[in-house]
Amino acid sequence: MNDWIFYSIASGSSGNCYYIGNDQYGFLIDAGISARSIVKYLKSINIDIHKIRALFITHIHKDHTQSMCVFGNKWNIPVYATQTFFSMMDRANYIHKKVAVTNRKYLEHEGRVQLGDFHITSFYIPHDAVDNSGYIIEYQGKKLVLATDVGHVTPRLIQAVQEADYLIIESNHDIDMLMNGSYSEKLKIRVSSNMGHMSNHEAAELVRSHANPNLKQVFLCHLSEENNTPELAVTTMSDALQHKIPVVALKRKEACLFDLL
Ligand SMILES: [Zn+2]
Ligand SMILES: [Zn+2]
Repeated sequence: MNDWIFYSIASGSSGNCYYIGNDQYGFLIDAGISARSIVKYLKSINIDIHKIRALFITHIHKDHTQSMCVFGNKWNIPVYATQTFFSMMDRANYIHKKVAVTNRKYLEHEGRVQLGDFHITSFYIPHDAVDNSGYIIEYQGKKLVLATDVGHVTPRLIQAVQEADYLIIESNHDIDMLMNGSYSEKLKIRVSSNMGHMSNHEAAELVRSHANPNLKQVFLCHLSEENNTPELAVTTMSDALQHKIPVVALKRKEACLFDLL
């Protein structure tokens, strides 16, 4: 039995990128920082680009897609997203380079793909970008669930949380910090709307109410720099879980490596 790893390379509005793999191969979810940085971080833990079998995209916002074309076109790594995502990409003027058709892989919500011993299922998460995807990764009978840029909780997200052995969940802002902070009124409304981002309290309530007894660890992702602190996000979640489950805030611009069992 091979252990697997979760490597958070970047997390937050200035860029998102996660690697999941075993000692032979793995895949990325989102490529929202430069390809050069992603490759450098992977190298620092001895992961060569040739070990990457796929790139999965959550949604079209730049903090999730910045270097997807480099992975798709330069290294011929298959890029997985929904068909609607790719047509949006084709129409988006601000995306100058498009993923080559030959490297596009369509994965609709509730679709499932196998990469070696990993099974990856996509599911819909509401957000102000079409077809935002969460991912459920199964490996040797365990499930890692990733839900980022969460506008609001849906029955499908609850179901995913109920199944999770490991959970990566957005804990974007503290609502008081957001409302009393420096964002414009328009941006405050966007972030807190039901198609925006998930607050610390919403994430804590979701996990407290629906986590199963096998949940081993919670990773808080996509923290706001302005409207949150890692300490506050972790405390809010840990208090809700009565400190029974380890909670970690992923760093915005620093890579963190976790061994999963
Ligand atoms: Zn984002
Ligand atoms: Zn987004």
